[in-house]
Amino acid sequence: MERKQPKCIICSRIVEESSKVPLCNIHIRAYNKLALKYGDWKNAYGDLSPREFLEKILENEYSGKWVKEVVRIILSQKELMQTFLGDLSSRDMKG
Ligand SMILES: [Zn+2]
Repeated sequence: MERKQPKCIICSRIVEESSKVPLCNIHIRAYNKLALKYGDWKNAYGDLSPREFLEKILENEYSGKWVKEVVRIILSQKELMQTFLGDLSSRDMKG
């Protein structure tokens, strides 16, 4: 039985089966980096919502190309934003 291979919603590369978000290896790495970075930024800024954080990343000229692509897709897709928020809170719980 042939199963449809999921593709990255940003670049259309094949998505790893283990990935819970529709992103390829390259973009999933950027996604994970974002989630990690949010913790640091939140500490530095005091109060920073995930959306504000993503907008700051987008405005930052030092942010990487792939990271910015991931931010744009998170901001434009409600479902992905929900997944991202879920990842952030599960990280919080781990401390
Ligand atoms: Zn990709």
